[in-house]
Amino acid sequence: MTATLPKPPADADVLVAGAGPAGLALACALADAGLSVLLLEQQARAALDAPADDGREIALTHRSRRVMQALGLWQRLPPQAIAPLREARVLNGDSTTPLCIGAADGAAEELGWLVPNHHIRAAALGAAMSRAQVRLLCDARVVALESGPTAAQVTLADGRVFRAALVVAADSRMSQTRRMAGIGASMHDFGRSAILGRVAHSRPSDAIAWECFRHGNTLALLPLNDRLASAVVTLPSDQAPQWMALDDAAFAARVQGQSAECLGAMQAVGPRHLYPLVGVYSHRFAAPRVALIGDAAVGMHPVTAHGWNFGLYGVEVLARELKAARQAGRDIGALAVLQAFEAEHRRTTLPIYLGTQALVSLFTDERSWARLARRGVLAVAGRAPLLAGLIKAGIARQLTGMNGSLLARAWER
Ligand SMILES: Cc1cc2nc3c(=O)[nH]c(=O)nc-3n(C[C@H](O)[C@H](O)[C@H](O)COP(=O)(O)OP(=O)(O)OC[C@H]3O[C@@H](n4cnc5c(N)ncnc54)[C@H](O)[C@@H]3O)c2cc1C
Repeated sequence: MTATLPKPPADADVLVAGAGPAGLALACALADAGLSVLLLEQQARAALDAPADDGREIALTHRSRRVMQALGLWQRLPPQAIAPLREARVLNGDSTTPLCIGAADGAAEELGWLVPNHHIRAAALGAAMSRAQVRLLCDARVVALESGPTAAQVTLADGRVFRAALVVAADSRMSQTRRMAGIGASMHDFGRSAILGRVAHSRPSDAIAWECFRHGNTLALLPLNDRLASAVVTLPSDQAPQWMALDDAAFAARVQGQSAECLGAMQAVGPRHLYPLVGVYSHRFAAPRVALIGDAAVGMHPVTAHGWNFGLYGVEVLARELKAARQAGRDIGALAVLQAFEAEHRRTTLPIYLGTQALVSLFTDERSWARLARRGVLAVAGRAPLLAGLIKAGIARQLTGMNGSLLARAWER
């Protein structure tokens, strides 16, 4: 990857490959730190201006809300699209008695908030475009990357070339830029898929999220405003086509049946979306003149609701390190600068990435020992306060990535 490059002037301080929510939020943070940014995005501008509803309801922590407020993203969200999350309840097997995880575990009234991903994308675009230091080039697919002693250079599919002191890969969990930087990643294919669909329900949700670990599949019901919920069915991938082919009435009936009627009668609203579940953890988050953020660094199991929260955390840490380097007159592409970001981001994300995998495995394994272990875990959680706190924290994280849990408090340092 190393080459001797001629020295035309840089096109910006930082090139960011990918104008998804992570790339856009980073552009905002870097601009506020006094750096200029050129975003390179493969999609057309029209697709960014009116992002399609992808069915994802993103659970946001208190920390994420604070970061989004500081970057001016939160203020751009339509208020009616922000749904509070006050409590989570877990049902296991055929049980109708839930384990309850409430805001009482923390100081705040809400555990977190749910916001549709396409609104986050639109808000991030608006915030980035309001900063003079940020430029966006669409129809710009990055196909090559070279790193030299004083600059890195990317080449687009149409042959155009851009240079900067630093290139940031924000081009999703299957990041091509990561690969071009010679950085590998550990991938875990869960062999399962998530089907997302909205349902209207007859009983109020009271801002409670439900997670029902049924035999064969899990069902999460995420509370939205106006008596709507997002149903997330996680099941072995070979069963997904059958669920996707159900008509609306049959889908709503299945969801209602598995929910122990917790939200009353249900009707399907809008299309369903299918996501194969693959976790990705990059071997490194930094190389000379290259850094990784968002899903390109850590692609979480989606049901655990961490991806964007981790993305924002990475944005915060990387921007802080680059700002300090610039103020100290250091090279922002130097490996030592980027390694400080890498060390902190790894320390924060790796335990939760691994812990999430373990929890997902336990709560989706249908072998009899795993069913027993699940029952035991939840039974203990109901009695022993300290252990209960830890278990609830883990489950709470899995459900929502929310504030108010022990893990979250460690994360919210
Ligand atoms: C079903 C589901 C539910 C989720 N729920 C939650 C949740 O509750 N809480 C939470 O925190 N997170 C959640 N997430 C995760 C969250 O959606 C992601 O972490 C986040 O959207 C990732 O943003 P990103 O910018 O890193 O990547 P992306 O959104 O994938 O954006 C990457 C961008 O890079 C562009 N690109 C790709 N390749 C190139 C290239 N070669 N050149 C130029 N541009 C390129 C793409 O076009 C795209 O615009 C969920 C995810 C899923 C799938």
